[in-house]
Amino acid sequence: MYTLIDKLRDTQNLTKNEWLLLLKHLQGTSIESALSEYLFSKSRSVQKSNYGKKVFIRGLIEISNICKNDCLYCGIRASNKNAQRYRLTPEEILTCADEGHEIGFRTFVLQGGEDPYFTDGILCEIITKIKNKYNDSAVTLSLGERTKESYEKLKKAGADRYLLRHETANESHYAKLHPANLKLSNRKECLFNLKQAGFQTGSGFMVGSPFQTTENLVEDMLFLKELDPAMVGIGPFIPHCDTPFAQYPNGSVELTLHLIALIRLMLPKALIPATTALGTLDKQGREKGILAGANVIMPNLSPESARKKYTLYNNKLHSGAEAAEHLRLLKEQMNKIGYEITIERGDYLCTNTTQNH
Ligand code: SAM
Repeated sequence: MYTLIDKLRDTQNLTKNEWLLLLKHLQGTSIESALSEYLFSKSRSVQKSNYGKKVFIRGLIEISNICKNDCLYCGIRASNKNAQRYRLTPEEILTCADEGHEIGFRTFVLQGGEDPYFTDGILCEIITKIKNKYNDSAVTLSLGERTKESYEKLKKAGADRYLLRHETANESHYAKLHPANLKLSNRKECLFNLKQAGFQTGSGFMVGSPFQTTENLVEDMLFLKELDPAMVGIGPFIPHCDTPFAQYPNGSVELTLHLIALIRLMLPKALIPATTALGTLDKQGREKGILAGANVIMPNLSPESARKKYTLYNNKLHSGAEAAEHLRLLKEQMNKIGYEITIERGDYLCTNTTQNH
């Protein structure tokens, strides 16, 4: 296993069989083991040589929990009648950005369900306003599947990055997690369209989603390698009580940490968040994520009332602290483990200039 880790670090590649062997082994391995320590020390050294001890922050603004899709795992799926729906107005979104900028955020992530209210026209207006006011800041969107033309318009309006997890790279697994109208082929096409439109593009998947096999994870790693995204978000699956997957168990924190480390070795320059889902399952989850090779944290800038309603899964972490206090605590937590929160925009360090506007 040590040789496979070394090979991944040196060549950023493994064959399908090598991935299977390594992942099967790591699935039963505790993060306290010597092998895990070896893996984490290698991923930290790659993290350090690319980004030093910096942890980038992104201000998350959850703009709407109205969603036309019915993904089986998600708490804001269309058919969840218990979800209390909300949508922020463009003015409220701008106020969140104002408050975030004031305390040092230089990236705003507009995330939400696939809410038909947010037409290209409305989104372009919001993006333009944020970018005109804060030309030192990046705008990231995470608003699901849209047409190629739509992505191009959003990019032209000034959006810099787009997050769209592929969720699983296996067709039949995808079909078990999604309704019949959603197809993996379209998800993948969206990701390649986003890259082509010039976005720093992010993908990723849930760890331990229902029916996920080790073979599926191998396909996820191979797909990430093929896509070569600027950002990779992975987090454990956590059930939501009002979904068909209410009775399924949480994904494993330990496996998520192992996968973060492997992704750091495979895609050395990727921006990898220590996700909210990781922090939800483990109080130290964010610190552990950074120590496994992640280098991004996405604190929440949404108004308190929205945060409570943007419930993707049970017990989703939403600090009661206001954003400034939350950021102060985060800085302390990161300093304690030898890292430093930076207010830099934190763009992808790629050589291909089309992705780096
Ligand atoms: N609608 C946009 C999209 O589809 O990309 C963005 C919002 S979506 C709710 C953001 C991410 O939340 C999804 O990509 C999914 O991986 C994650 N998510 C949803 N339900 C989850 C659950 N039960 N456990 C963990 N993550 C979940």
